[in-house]
Amino acid sequence: MDNIVVQKLTAIVGEEFISTRKDVLLTYSTSASTSYDPAIPGAVVKPADTQQVSEILKIANEHKILVTPRSGGSSLQGEVIPKKDSLVIDLLRLSEIEVYQDLRSVTVGSGINFGKLDKYLNQYDLWLPVYPGSSLSATVVGNVAVNGSGFGSPKYGCIGELVLGLEVVLPNGEIIQTGSEANPNAPGPFLRYAFGPDLTGLFIGSLGIFGIITKVSLKIFKRMHHFDYNTYGFETPQEAEKFILQCKENEISATWISIYEGRILDFFLEMVGEEYGVPQHDWPTITVSMVIGRVREDQLASDSKAAKEICEQTGGHVIGIVELPREEWNDRMREFVRSSYIHGWHWRILYHHQTLSQWHRTLEEMWPIFDEFGVLGHTAGFQSGHSSYNYYPQIYYDPQDEEDEGKAKAAHKELAKRLFKTGAVPFKLAPYWVDGITEMEPYLEFLKSFRRAIDPNNIMSPSAIPRIEGEGE
Ligand SMILES: Cc1cc2nc3c(=O)[nH]c(=O)nc-3n(C[C@H](O)[C@H](O)[C@H](O)COP(=O)(O)OP(=O)(O)OC[C@H]3O[C@@H](n4cnc5c(N)ncnc54)[C@H](O)[C@@H]3O)c2cc1C
Repeated sequence: MDNIVVQKLTAIVGEEFISTRKDVLLTYSTSASTSYDPAIPGAVVKPADTQQVSEILKIANEHKILVTPRSGGSSLQGEVIPKKDSLVIDLLRLSEIEVYQDLRSVTVGSGINFGKLDKYLNQYDLWLPVYPGSSLSATVVGNVAVNGSGFGSPKYGCIGELVLGLEVVLPNGEIIQTGSEANPNAPGPFLRYAFGPDLTGLFIGSLGIFGIITKVSLKIFKRMHHFDYNTYGFETPQEAEKFILQCKENEISATWISIYEGRILDFFLEMVGEEYGVPQHDWPTITVSMVIGRVREDQLASDSKAAKEICEQTGGHVIGIVELPREEWNDRMREFVRSSYIHGWHWRILYHHQTLSQWHRTLEEMWPIFDEFGVLGHTAGFQSGHSSYNYYPQIYYDPQDEEDEGKAKAAHKELAKRLFKTGAVPFKLAPYWVDGITEMEPYLEFLKSFRRAIDPNNIMSPSAIPRIEGEGE
């Protein structure tokens, strides 16, 4: 990177918080996205506060330098991988947490991960009820930038549903605040939809293309202490879907719902069943693993009784194995399905949301494609909101074997196309939702016009979708 730029950035953050050393840059060249190619940036800066972020973006704009905001670096689809010789802004030093007990809200800086926040809120008997499987590295702000989901989402939705407002540094360095705190006299964050259109929403799931989120304010809730863990068996996917919909209709407070095919449970439990203490079982075609959570014990007793009745009414049976959902819930740092990572396979993940009543449609598309392309893979996912299911089929390949990798990529692309036809929608924008899916074009063009207006020099998040070809590269 140009020496003059490095000097200007050093003047902002101080020598200790900028690096152009190869070994340091190497760690910023990649992320948890193992199937995307790394690229070594020209420099990394670690600002201390919002003001420094603003000054850095002004310099980047002046010199037209590509900028990748980076928080936990745990995202899985290459969006946090920088371009060669560009600038990475590491946001982990912004580590403020402010709790507003009366407003039942919290404001966190971009460096706070879910684990830290959970520990902090625990002292007030409160929690942020969306907790991804990557919570010891994923930051809350990074999760807002992808609109992620996690444990708690069946009841509370994706994280965007909890956001009350944001502090953002726009690509030109201007600092803005959205939500009720746009009034500097507000006692704290309490309302998102203030002052007209929902500008907060523009930044949720934006992957950093519209600016850098330096703080986010979110709703928080009384911590639940009473849980019911159970597994329910069904012979068809449709019965399982009906069971979950009926639980929803009866306001059962499910905080975790994961649907598994019997054959997938066999696959996982062979690896980690013993560690999780899950007893041997002849799994039915479909198993629903569910955690019901309540603040009060009497509410829990009523919900768990109702769930069992609904299971039987919808043609299922209560399996009664509690270890599977309990360990998924307790071991939130390393989600059960992620255990397959320990085998060192490379994989491509196809994040999407499917409606609950169409859960079976992903299966119907997925398995024939695996056979057609001769690839290995499996489903995974959990209920992510009001009526949506966050699915992430994974396709494995041997990274040393070009043919195998080629097949995995081709199968992945074809699966995205076919899933789109079923009505599935992206969990976040990724290359496979853009390539060859023509129905997305009007929407993407609209989004690009925002991108051009907010970031005319096209410096922000160069690996994020939608890309603006020929500009800023
Ligand atoms: C084992 C494992 C389990 C996972 N489980 C889940 C899960 O249950 N649920 C889930 O949602 N995800 C999950 N993920 C994916 C990942 O953890 C999430 O996407 C996570 O929220 C990303 O946050 P991060 O802080 O790591 O962001 P990063 O990876 O650093 O960044 C993500 C994106 O946001 C942008 N960005 C980062 N910080 C900012 C900022 N301050 N302002 C603007 N843009 C920014 C980046 O440029 C990038 O485009 C998992 C990943 C792994 C490896």
